[in-house]
Amino acid sequence: MDMLPQRYSPREIEAEIFKFWEEKRIYEKLKKREGKKFYFLDGPPYTTGRIHLGTAWNKIIKDTILRYLRMRGFNPIDTPGWDMHGLPIEVKVEQELGFRTKRDIENFGVDKFVQKCMEYALRNKDAMTEQFKALAVWMDWENPYMTVKAEYMNSAWFTIKKAYEKGLLSKEMMVVNWCPRCETALADAEVEYAEREDPSIYVKFRIKDGRFILIWTTTPWTIPANMAIAVNPNLEYALVRSYRNGFAEEVIIAKDLVQTLAKGYEKWEIIDVFQGKDLEGLEYEHPLAEEIPAQRNFRHRIILADFVSAENTGCVHIAPAHGLEDFEIGRKYQLEVFNPVDEKGYFNELAGKYAGMSIREANEAIVEDLHKKDLLLAEEKIFHRYGHCWRCKTPIIFRATEQWFIKISKLKEKMLEEIEKVRWIPEWAGSARFRDWIMNAKDWCISRQRYWGIPLPIWICECGKIKVVGSIEEVPWQSDLDLHRPKIDEITFRCECGKEMRRVKDVFDVWFDSGVASWGSIGYPLREEKFHLWPADFITEGHDQTRGWFYSQLGASMICFERAPYKTVLMHGFTLDEQGRKMSKSLGNVVEPEEVIEQIGVDCFRLYVLSSAAWEDLKFSWDEARNVLRNMNIFWNSVRFAYTYMAIDNFKAGSRITTLEDRWVLSRLESFNKEAIEAMEKYNLHRVVKAFFDFIIEDFSRWYIPLIRHRVWEEAESEQKLSAYETMLRVIDKSIRIIAPFAPLIAEWLYQNFVKRFREGLESIFMESYPVPEESWIDKNLEEKMRIVREIVEACNSARNRAGIKLRWPLKELVVEGVELEEMSNILARMCNVKSVKFGTVKKELIMKPDYRKVGPLLKEKAKAFAEFLSTLKELPAELEFEGVKIPRDWIIVEERLPDKIVSEEFSLGRVYLNIEIDDSLMKEAFAREFVRRIQFMRKELDLRVEEFIETFIEAEPKLVEGWIDYIKNETRSIKLSFSKAEGFVREWEIEDLKVRIGIRKWSSGSG
Ligand SMILES: [Zn+2]
Ligand SMILES: [Zn+2]
Repeated sequence: MDMLPQRYSPREIEAEIFKFWEEKRIYEKLKKREGKKFYFLDGPPYTTGRIHLGTAWNKIIKDTILRYLRMRGFNPIDTPGWDMHGLPIEVKVEQELGFRTKRDIENFGVDKFVQKCMEYALRNKDAMTEQFKALAVWMDWENPYMTVKAEYMNSAWFTIKKAYEKGLLSKEMMVVNWCPRCETALADAEVEYAEREDPSIYVKFRIKDGRFILIWTTTPWTIPANMAIAVNPNLEYALVRSYRNGFAEEVIIAKDLVQTLAKGYEKWEIIDVFQGKDLEGLEYEHPLAEEIPAQRNFRHRIILADFVSAENTGCVHIAPAHGLEDFEIGRKYQLEVFNPVDEKGYFNELAGKYAGMSIREANEAIVEDLHKKDLLLAEEKIFHRYGHCWRCKTPIIFRATEQWFIKISKLKEKMLEEIEKVRWIPEWAGSARFRDWIMNAKDWCISRQRYWGIPLPIWICECGKIKVVGSIEEVPWQSDLDLHRPKIDEITFRCECGKEMRRVKDVFDVWFDSGVASWGSIGYPLREEKFHLWPADFITEGHDQTRGWFYSQLGASMICFERAPYKTVLMHGFTLDEQGRKMSKSLGNVVEPEEVIEQIGVDCFRLYVLSSAAWEDLKFSWDEARNVLRNMNIFWNSVRFAYTYMAIDNFKAGSRITTLEDRWVLSRLESFNKEAIEAMEKYNLHRVVKAFFDFIIEDFSRWYIPLIRHRVWEEAESEQKLSAYETMLRVIDKSIRIIAPFAPLIAEWLYQNFVKRFREGLESIFMESYPVPEESWIDKNLEEKMRIVREIVEACNSARNRAGIKLRWPLKELVVEGVELEEMSNILARMCNVKSVKFGTVKKELIMKPDYRKVGPLLKEKAKAFAEFLSTLKELPAELEFEGVKIPRDWIIVEERLPDKIVSEEFSLGRVYLNIEIDDSLMKEAFAREFVRRIQFMRKELDLRVEEFIETFIEAEPKLVEGWIDYIKNETRSIKLSFSKAEGFVREWEIEDLKVRIGIRKWSSGSG
């Protein structure tokens, strides 16, 4: 006889199924099937080489949806994507090669460097592919889309050409975040903030009339680029006569901030107050004009800006080359963008005395010079949050450079309209979060001064003519690397003017790469055959993609097609630790997907991450994760129970359903199916997992199985037994098909090893269609009745508990008050372990006492007699008179007392009463059950199979279990039962106060 393994061993089962899928080529067979079209678009993970918990969760969500779609008759596009360009990979390769600057790359050879980046990205892609496969993620791993491929890069070129044609591409001088180590512009999203220490200095600028104006800065190195000082037109400023070492100076500062002067003066007095706007146009001397001759060519003056607030000194030093606000106000006042800092963060020859110094070195030199010139009022240190390069962690600087921009400002209105047409899950992901982001979006700087990226397809002539190339077919190329730098830089075009047009050296912001994914991944415009599927039906990514991929895709799509590139977006959360903190190496709280799989298996990992609402952050809890495994073990045991008896009886599907509890669990099964489908339509994956466990653990394993346990021992042809088998088969069969997209390995295993044992099946569970509910089985009325029954049983158990009577001990009677459920009597009797169940009430004794506080003053000494009178009454009459006095009802306290041997407990609709009197016959039955339980325990210890027979010895009087001997033999599969000296495998037990030795011995035809 065969049995399922004792315990659920996920790792073994999973290995077996992975092998089965591969050998039978199940995925490939499914891929070949005809099916309805569905355009799923994979948000391409960056090829870092390792997946983390969040990436694993992301792909598990996707795989679950894809598997569901396939079972619903779709043949979805399931192309995985890889985001493979960009600074992170360049920095890694630089580290491998021990490089520190761009110069090292140039010396090494850009072609070799780019080749290394390609190899690195491909290697990582392969490693990550294996990690995703290990999560049972079925995607078209053989044919992914990759941003480094010519066909894909073509889609980016196509897009930029469209932008150019529509006037959405422009080259502009702009202040950008700049990493002086990587020597490139960075997007806002590429800047990481961290605490650091900087100088904090107060500097006096000398106005031409001899007065001073006081500014504050944490970046002394920006003073060489100073062009103006901004004050708020509506703020009050004070002219303050300030004294130090016997000298007096007149200083301008915001009136509310004069206390700041204490940093450098002994005393001061306000001699005048005026509005900021009165200061406009005052000219001052650049404080470093002697050190920086180039500065002597400019006129420096006080200007007005609303962004100036009453902080520090209320006067802001403006360097248009080194700050975005500075740049913008500078544009308004037509200030020169004087930029003496090069791309490495060093001062160039424009900086005069400071030329050749790094900005850090210059910081010190400048402070020193200001000090010598007595222009430094105070020097302090400050700890503040400052931006760093996301990759190399170098502090960024702001630097004015010429960059290429997409004019998002011209697209914004239309983008806002388009997001309305997209289905967002949850709804606020679009209507609030994404909307806000787009409202505040700035023009998109798409150029980077690096090597490993899609080259900008822009060629320029000295004469100013521009050629934007919209297709890679316009340039000669053989391999993907030909389209990368430096090969592409060698391509030139002849300008109308006769000169050569050369490519601008920049590459795309890597976010632009993935922005074109919805047409790039299907090869458009080089290939057209799949484009009719566009836009994507569904995408899902984490909430950081609001400013990332959701946005870059929408922007790029507006350029080309003027509509959103996706129809439905499911936004998921982040993975955090149990306390809700980000996982990081420094906190030591990182949980790797492999660790989790090692402990609980792939399916439980998947069920765990899918069990919380996708849009909420997932706070990883080992307890909760392990609890999934515990639940799956419970499910396993139920399946094992079913299998054991169904296999003994060689059951085949097709029996009639005869019994109430069978109809009930089948009703619950269909309700679960219905809920699963409704939840999937809304992409509420967590609701399916919850419904699965509610049904399979609470309803099926913990309630239904105990209800029918006795039926599996009935004779071979028992209709009731077959009905139970049929029911268990349907429940397990359908449940695993419903949950298969979520827990594919265990579902496939049970399909192959359980379902197909009892009914015909297909080659794989994934060739089955997703179950549809058979509504005719749903009986909400019955479900509600069973719900009440379970409440009653619970109430009964707690009443027993209080009385100290074990559930194994049969009791005489249960009375249920408050509901009438005659048809459920059998179930109640069995689950409450009582001989009879009645609906009604038990007669209670009423005890009446006077309320002395009220009766006392009136009846005085007669109160006691009145109390005695009350105690003789059986019930309270409508009107009560005592010795001529009318007694109001509320003068009497009425208490109910239950009869002896009755315990009671409430449930939501009423009350249960349990008779706990145990007479002689109940006692015999109780002992019989106690013996059975112990013999079964000993059978387990001997590792006997369920159908094996034994011989049993009990050292006790047979009278103790008179009338129950056949029952004991039956339940324990004892061929012989003797009340004599224990033999064989012997144990001593204590049952209540009785010490008893029991022996059992495996029966073989030769023995006895
Ligand atoms: Zn950097
Ligand atoms: Zn030209």
